[in-house]
Amino acid sequence: MSSELFERCIAEAATVAENVYFHVLGEPTLHPGFGLFLKKLEETPLKLNLTTNGTTIARTGKQILASPAVRQVNFSTHAYAELPQDAALAHLQEVLDFCKMANAVRPDLYINLRLWNVGNAASHSWNETFIAKVNDAFVNSSDATKAAPQISLEHFCSRHKSFPVTGRIYLHQDSRFEWPKVDERTGSALQTKDERGEYSEGKNPKNTAGTCRALDTHVAILHDGRIVACCLDHSGQITLGHIQEQSLLEILDTPTARNLREGFEKHELRHPFCQSCSFCKRFGK
Ligand code: SF4
Repeated sequence: MSSELFERCIAEAATVAENVYFHVLGEPTLHPGFGLFLKKLEETPLKLNLTTNGTTIARTGKQILASPAVRQVNFSTHAYAELPQDAALAHLQEVLDFCKMANAVRPDLYINLRLWNVGNAASHSWNETFIAKVNDAFVNSSDATKAAPQISLEHFCSRHKSFPVTGRIYLHQDSRFEWPKVDERTGSALQTKDERGEYSEGKNPKNTAGTCRALDTHVAILHDGRIVACCLDHSGQITLGHIQEQSLLEILDTPTARNLREGFEKHELRHPFCQSCSFCKRFGK
């Protein structure tokens, strides 16, 4: 995304939202304009909830902490389960160092250490290591300010996903989801893996019942200005308009947007792309 388009996006976002997230797909801190975009954001009332895999945090951390526009940082630490252990531990250490620095200089900053891999057996070993490291850093360490309870993975349920670590640092657990897909030839929903990462051939029929918060609490803008309903739609399957051509308010009031929103209110998934989505299972049937 060019800086010119970025400025257009945040000007439009400020008409309907209080918070922005610098991602749909990909690592936002790798964008060459990341520092400039932070500065541009500081000129608006918008606040940033940054989601990052944390692999650049040793380089970008000070810049993030220095920006008053940054309200929250989410670290996708579940991704480290896919890495060789040495690399995973090195990245985690950099994230924990950032957390300690944030605790000292930005106690107002919210930090979520995400483990969005509940139910994924292959992640179990990493999760155990992760929890031990977090406890060592914040609970067992000599500079822990008060006796805090040990963090464990035992208490997750669909209604209880966020666990305080210290200050405004939280462990956030959730189920793993698969990116929805449609067959680009037919426009029909493709079968997807379930939360355990297993394909259930023939047992995973097109799902037309469901809901999510897209077009109510959020909407996404792709790198080229296309507006889509949510951040899972990185390829623009549900393109509602273009930010260069219409205001965000106008785009959110198009017949397609209104139809999708009405569907979500009635627990109907009206678009084939949504019918292949497992993320929306988080919001119940
Ligand atoms: S149902 Fe899934 S794909 Fe559709 S808007 Fe919601 S999160 Fe996005």
